[in-house]
Amino acid sequence: MTSLRPAPSPSRDSAFFWEGLNRDVLLGQRCSNCQKFRHPPRPMCPRCQSLDWQTIELSCRGTLHAVVRPVHPPLPTFGPDCLVALIDLPEGIRLLSNLCEIDLYDAQIGMEVEVFFVETESGDKVHQFRPIGGALG
Ligand SMILES: [Zn+2]
Repeated sequence: MTSLRPAPSPSRDSAFFWEGLNRDVLLGQRCSNCQKFRHPPRPMCPRCQSLDWQTIELSCRGTLHAVVRPVHPPLPTFGPDCLVALIDLPEGIRLLSNLCEIDLYDAQIGMEVEVFFVETESGDKVHQFRPIGGALG
């Protein structure tokens, strides 16, 4: 039996992001003034200092920027094959997530990946990524 992931801990600034994941939607924060996306969510635009922002549905696909397999400390609820990855989205933001359904040594920087959603121990969902078209070879 696969153990469930730990529940997310939303902050006031990131609550919209986690709420979107529970509906299988990846939501981003975009400045209403200069239109720049930012992540992780925060109150002020780093480019123009505007406090006005809106939520926009993000692309379901991105590219792999970096990937590692954590060695220490052990993370039992994540399983031995868990990969931690940085995913670049076309909106110009980078998400920290997990890369699944592929071995570390088959993962290639720049490869296309797609988001999917998994339930955690609280019933809330988190985002994960996998290679487009499923596992390679
Ligand atoms: Zn701005």
